[in-house]
Amino acid sequence: MAATDVDIFSNEEKRNLNLGGHVGFDSLPDQLVSKSVTQGFCFNILCVGETGIGKSTLMNTLFNTMFENEEASHYQNGVYLRPRTYDLQESNVHLKLTIVDTVGFGDQINKEDSYKPIVDYIDTQFENYLQEELKIKRSLFDYHDTRIHICLYFIAPTGHSLKSLDLVTMKKLDSKVNIIPIIAKADTISKSELHKFKIKIMSELVSNGVQIYQFPTDDEAVTEINSSMNAHLPFAVVGSVEEVKVGNKTVRARQYPWGVVQVENESHCDFVKLREMLIRVNMEDLREQTHTRHYELYRRCKLEEMGFKDTDPDSQPFRYTHTHTHTHTHTGGDGLQGH
Ligand code: GDP
Repeated sequence: MAATDVDIFSNEEKRNLNLGGHVGFDSLPDQLVSKSVTQGFCFNILCVGETGIGKSTLMNTLFNTMFENEEASHYQNGVYLRPRTYDLQESNVHLKLTIVDTVGFGDQINKEDSYKPIVDYIDTQFENYLQEELKIKRSLFDYHDTRIHICLYFIAPTGHSLKSLDLVTMKKLDSKVNIIPIIAKADTISKSELHKFKIKIMSELVSNGVQIYQFPTDDEAVTEINSSMNAHLPFAVVGSVEEVKVGNKTVRARQYPWGVVQVENESHCDFVKLREMLIRVNMEDLREQTHTRHYELYRRCKLEEMGFKDTDPDSQPFRYTHTHTHTHTHTGGDGLQGH
C-alpha cells in the first residue's frame, strides 16, 4: 500500500461535500427493494412452548393458512425440534418461511435439559452459516439461511408467575436469538388478571436478567409505534382458524356459549399487535439483529476457539498459516504478533 493511501485512510476527519448535480445513488434503496422482491427473502420462526399451548394454531392464524401439523403427543422421551419450510407468496413478494416447533417441550418429568436441544439447534444453524462463510468459494447469495430470526416464547396463561422452566430456557436463549414473549390462550384469563400478569412477567424477566427483544426506536418512521408496543409486552394472543359470523362480517374467532372472542379485535387480544410488529414493521430488524448481534457473537467465540486472533492495529496483516502451523521460520519479521 502506498504511503499516500495510508494517509488518506487513516485520516479520521470527514468533510461534508455538496454535489453539483444529480449523481444517482439515491436509487439504491429502490434497488434493495427490487432485489428482495425478485430474489425473495427468508424468515425463520422458532416457537417454544409446551405441547398444546397453541403454537400451531397461532402460526396458522398469523399466516392465514393451514400449515401441515400433526398433533404432538405428551409422551416424548425428550425435546426435539421440527423445522418445516414453506414458500409463500403475497403480491409479487416471495417469502421462504421456516417454522420450527419444539416437540415434547415441557412433557418430561425431569425438565432440566429441555433447553439443550433448542440451544443446539440454534447453534447448528449458526455453524452451518459460518461454514459457508469460511469456504473459499462461498455462495451466500443463494444460501438458504436457516438461522432463527425470532423465538416466540409461549407463556401459559396461569396468572401466577413464570415457571422456572420458562426462566431457565429464556435465560439460555437470550444471547442467541431475539425473544418475544407471548401469553398464549389469552381468552382464558380475565382482563384484570391479565394486566397484573403482564406486569409480573416483565418484572420477573428483569429481575432474572433475561434480555428480550426490544422493538427498535432509532428509526424515526417507527419510533412512535415501536416504543408504544414495547410497553405492551408480553403480547396476550388468541389463535383460531375458525370463522365466525359477527354482524355481517366473517371473522376468525373462538366461539363460546357466552360469547365470541375475535382474534383481530384489539380490545379482545394483542394478536394484531403481534402481527404488526413481527411481520409488517420489524421483520427486517429481526433479520439484521440476528446477523449483527447473535451470529456475530457466535462467530467471534468460534473463531477464537479455532485459534484465530485479530492483530494489533500497528502490526502486520493477519497471516492464516502462522496461527495454524506455529512456524517461526518466516523471514522479514512479518509474522503474527504475540507468537
Ligand atoms: P401446540 O401443541 O402448541 O401446537 O397447540 P395447538 O395449536 O395444537 O393447540 C392445542 C389446542 O389448544 C387446540 O385444541 C386449539 O384449538 C387450542 N387453542 C389454540 N389456540 C388457542 C387460544 O388462543 N385459546 C384457546 N382457548 N384455545 C386455543
